[in-house]
Amino acid sequence: MSDLASDIPRLREAVIQRLIEQAPPPAPLAPEEAEALRARIKALLKERDAVLVVHFYVDEELQKLAEETGGHVSDSLDMADFGSRHPAKTLVVVGVRFMGETAKILNPEKRVLMPTLQAECSLDVGCPAEAFAAFCDQHPDRTVVVYANTSAAVKARADWVVTSSNALAIVRHLMARGEKILWAPDRHLGRYIQEQTGADMLMWQGECVVHDEFSAEGLRELMRQHPEAEVLVHPESPRGVVELAHHVGSTSQLIKAARESNAPTLIVATDRGIFYKMQQAAPGKTLIAAPTLGRGGSCSVCAHCPWMAMNGLQNLCEALEHPEGHEVTVDPAIIDRARLPIERMLEFSRSQGLVARATKD
Ligand code: SF4
Repeated sequence: MSDLASDIPRLREAVIQRLIEQAPPPAPLAPEEAEALRARIKALLKERDAVLVVHFYVDEELQKLAEETGGHVSDSLDMADFGSRHPAKTLVVVGVRFMGETAKILNPEKRVLMPTLQAECSLDVGCPAEAFAAFCDQHPDRTVVVYANTSAAVKARADWVVTSSNALAIVRHLMARGEKILWAPDRHLGRYIQEQTGADMLMWQGECVVHDEFSAEGLRELMRQHPEAEVLVHPESPRGVVELAHHVGSTSQLIKAARESNAPTLIVATDRGIFYKMQQAAPGKTLIAAPTLGRGGSCSVCAHCPWMAMNGLQNLCEALEHPEGHEVTVDPAIIDRARLPIERMLEFSRSQGLVARATKD
């Protein structure tokens, strides 16, 4: 009989797999339907004093709409920063739920809407607040550092929140102060940071379903076929994939690397939603998705987050038309506690020039 501890990763995997199956993308639209929805969304944004804050991984159509309406397309660090600086009364966060929660924590006085509140993240789901609190209780001597991809309740337990744009700098800062770290939830990103810094880090064992599927073996073969290519890798990917990279970084940092690279071809190991902004930044270059290889030789999500893919024009329009059922709420007591580590991160990142620079300069 297997013991419960060894069953937990399998149970977690089963839950995540079920959530992936329950995350259908929006139904396809005829061109005239899409055009009518775009026009209605633009009118509603004005009527409701609302602005779109959109992640790089959502559909290209939504990224374009944000660009056309004075909204913002970026990574989760920059989204949080933009939302808290923009004067609009309503923030419409197009991404996954933890991003909407972060916007609400930083802007409790604003209304925060999302096309769907069912957009999960495997890192968030794989790090339940109660189990995480118990883990922290066992290690009271460690500074708790959590990735932005966590629930508001997990953030409320943290000393610092980080994103992949600033995690290295923040861990180096904590190391210099002699602090030992408890890290959650992404084990690949945690290992990468640990190897880069030499910090004393105790890891939670979560992973992103998209990046975990990139295959080092497949990537090596693709590199043989494209010797002219440089490889860009997000550090949520497994070690073997990161080791083959010419550039490792957050989404914003990878876009910057694409723009600055002299290579004519780039192989990209992150969600393929990024190709829209990356191609804008590097117009003459050929972008190729890095290969994925799930268990049994086939991929399960195939380089595109199933929860980011739930966002579409219809549910975005519906959120603006009928906000009930689309509004993000967070318990005020949790907001009070979670706000501190997020603001600490933003203040640190602003002081280091880490916010909004990668995509704008
Ligand atoms: S791409 Fe990965 S880390 Fe990002 S929201 Fe999807 S599951 Fe979470």
